Amino acid sequence: MKMKKVVENFRCENCGFEMKGDGCTDHCSQCLWGKHVDEAVPGDRLSGCKGLMEPIRTSYQNDNFRIYYKCTKCNHDFWVREGKDDNRDKLIELSGN
Ligand SMILES: [Zn+2]
Ligand SMILES: [Zn+2]
Repeated sequence: MKMKKVVENFRCENCGFEMKGDGCTDHCSQCLWGKHVDEAVPGDRLSGCKGLMEPIRTSYQNDNFRIYYKCTKCNHDFWVREGKDDNRDKLIELSGN
């Protein structure tokens, strides 16, 4: 899957952490919460929802975590890949669910 490279910094609306965007950042690396900005494909930024995306659980496959999200506003759900700076403890904690 191809990601559009849009570099954008943002402040996490869940924990207040200042994220430095690197072009494919779509969630907070500290608490893992994201924002519902993509509609069908990660990076498409087509959604007008802007609700908070709650990380429900993670799964570990092929040396990578994937995070399952559900939007707290519209219930849209999707999987994304972990970011390179994601909080490891948090990823592991959620994999137990
Ligand atoms: Zn956060
Ligand atoms: Zn939503």
